[in-house]
Amino acid sequence: MTEFEVIASYFNAGQQSRGDVILGQSDDCAIVRTTPQTHIAVTTDTMVAGVHFDEKVPPRALGHKLVAVNLSDLAAMGAEPAWLSLAITMPEVNTSWLEEFSAGLHELANYYNCQLIGGDTTRGPLTLTLTAQGLLPEDQLLTRRGANPGDWIYVSGTLGDAAAALAAQRGEISVCPVQQQQLEERLFYPTPRITLGQALRPIATSAIDISDGLAADLSHILKRSEVGARLQVNNLPYSNALNGNIAVEQQRHFALHGGDDYELCFTIPEASRGTLETALAHIGVDVTCVGQIEANGGLRLFDGDNELPSSIVGYQHFGVNL
Ligand SMILES: [Mg+2]
Repeated sequence: MTEFEVIASYFNAGQQSRGDVILGQSDDCAIVRTTPQTHIAVTTDTMVAGVHFDEKVPPRALGHKLVAVNLSDLAAMGAEPAWLSLAITMPEVNTSWLEEFSAGLHELANYYNCQLIGGDTTRGPLTLTLTAQGLLPEDQLLTRRGANPGDWIYVSGTLGDAAAALAAQRGEISVCPVQQQQLEERLFYPTPRITLGQALRPIATSAIDISDGLAADLSHILKRSEVGARLQVNNLPYSNALNGNIAVEQQRHFALHGGDDYELCFTIPEASRGTLETALAHIGVDVTCVGQIEANGGLRLFDGDNELPSSIVGYQHFGVNL
């Protein structure tokens, strides 16, 4: 199979087309139509075999996750997904692998009306790189910068499941097969919080997606916004698969430092908390208030009224998300 046949069979076929794509994968460049008063948000993520994933990850999950991690970055900026470019390096043309991988990719891309408009296919060690572009109204930018003292800190969904799935695979924790499957579902098929991100645009003062663990990602907001925060670790949200099945300290560790959650962390001024609740009623995503922005002092962790040692805050992980 030639490069062109691979593209035609697996990446051109199976996807919806958008009205703003003038030229897709049929020329030297793709051409897309832009609209006035709209900014374009651009993000790229690479997944390398043996570094970011191993042979335990089904190819369909790889296709899903590659789209999900990119769309999660768009969600953090409140952008509406539009166009994707895929650079894929693979050791050989494995048609059953390509079929599953492209099905996972198209499934999520189509769900968010996101079109693959170009890319490159080469031979070499398996490496997957995706660039996603999304649309934003120019007067509603949601960034890491803008959190103010007194703002409330929220996270969406539940934290720590993906890290727990990896730990279970490595035999570091023991869970029953049903829980293992629930945790792996979160590791393999993360949900980008696209609708939530767009709803937050006019309400939140800052946002980030949680890819490296809440402690590291919230710290990015604190640094960019030049503020500190008090994080109530006793309020962190956990799934049923985690709750009651592993030690509380372990749950906390996964939530704070595990990564791969792809939930959103965002800050809301006191005056907008009611608006947030109204907006959430239409979305169907749970959010949890986990702390408050302070004027300074960096990131401080509290269990109830007790401040935890700073060594827990500063833990650095060198896992899958380098
Ligand atoms: Mg991110």
